[in-house]
Amino acid sequence: MSVARRPPALLQVADNQAVSAHRRRIVLAGASLADFPLDRPGAHIKLFFAPAGETQPALPIVTADGPVWPTDRPRPIVRTYSVRHVDPARCRLSVDFVMHADDGPAAAWAATATSGATVGLAGPGGPMPMLAAAPYYLLVGDLSALPAIEALLAGLPDTARGDVFIHVPDEDDAARLPHVAPGISLHWRYGPADGRVDHAWCAQIIAQAPAPEHGFAWVAGENATVIALRRMLRDRGWPREAMYAVPYWKSQLTEERYHAERHQVMDAFDVD
Ligand SMILES: Cc1cc2nc3c(=O)[nH]c(=O)nc-3n(C[C@H](O)[C@H](O)[C@H](O)COP(=O)(O)OP(=O)(O)OC[C@H]3O[C@@H](n4cnc5c(N)ncnc54)[C@H](O)[C@@H]3O)c2cc1C
Repeated sequence: MSVARRPPALLQVADNQAVSAHRRRIVLAGASLADFPLDRPGAHIKLFFAPAGETQPALPIVTADGPVWPTDRPRPIVRTYSVRHVDPARCRLSVDFVMHADDGPAAAWAATATSGATVGLAGPGGPMPMLAAAPYYLLVGDLSALPAIEALLAGLPDTARGDVFIHVPDEDDAARLPHVAPGISLHWRYGPADGRVDHAWCAQIIAQAPAPEHGFAWVAGENATVIALRRMLRDRGWPREAMYAVPYWKSQLTEERYHAERHQVMDAFDVD
C-alpha cells in the first residue's frame, strides 16, 4: 500500500464517542490538517501510538526510500486506519476504531483516549480513487471496513446503483448509516468476527454481482473472506482493474505479524 508523502504530524484527541456497541469515533485535531485532501474518503492512513513509557510517539522522516526513524527514541506502534471524515477548515479528522475483544494496542488506546492525548498521522494513501466510477457498485466489508464504506457511500451521487454487504457483530452496529443513494441496497449480516469464511454468504454476494464489465467491486475485512471473495469474483471474470480487494486484518495475528503476509497477499492479487 502506498502512503502519500505528506510529512507525518502529531495530532491531539479532540473528542472520543461511542458510535455503536463495537465502534468508537475519535476526532483528531491539529494545524497540519488544514491542507488534508478532501477528495480521499475512505483512504488509508497510518497512525503512530506512543509505546509504554512514552507520552508522544516518535515520527519518521519520509524519504524517497521509505521512512527513516529517529535513532534516539523507541519506535511507536503503527496501525492502519481509514479516513472516516475530514474537515480541513476546522483542522479535524475523524477515525472510527473497532472495539474488538482480542487485545490490541490501537483498540485499547481508542477505548480510553482522552482529550489532548497525542497520536501520529501519516497519509492519506491507498488507491486514488478508491472507487472507480461504474454503473454498479458491489461493496463488501466487516466492521473494520465500515468506516471506509460509509465515507465512500457518502461521496456517491444520488444516481448510483449497487449492493452493499456488511458483516457486523450485532444489530446495534448496523444502525445509523448516513446518506445512501436510493439505488443502493444494504444487506446486513450479524455475528462475531473471526477468521472463518461463511461460504453461503459469499455465494449470496456473488449471485448478486452483475456481469463484470458493468461494475466495480470493493471488498475489505478479515483476510480469509477477502481472499475467498476475490477468488470468486476473478472466477466469474472480474478483472483486477475492476476491484479493490484488501484484507484489513487477520484473525489471531497482530498487525506487525500480519504485515509481511498482507504484502504477499496483495502481490498475489496483482499477478493472478
Ligand atoms: C487499509 C486499512 C484500513 C483500515 N481501516 C480501519 C478502520 O477504519 N477502523 C478499524 O477499526 N480498523 C481498520 N483497519 C484494521 C486495523 O488496522 C486492524 O484491525 C488492526 O489490527 C487493529 O490494531 P490493534 O492494535 O487493535 O490490534 P492488533 O494488535 O493488530 O491485533 C490484536 C488481535 O486482535 C485481532 N483483531 C485485529 N483487528 C480486529 C478486528 N477488526 N476484529 C476482530 N479482531 C481483530 C487480531 O487478529 C489479533 O489477534 C484497517 C486496515 C487496513 C489495512
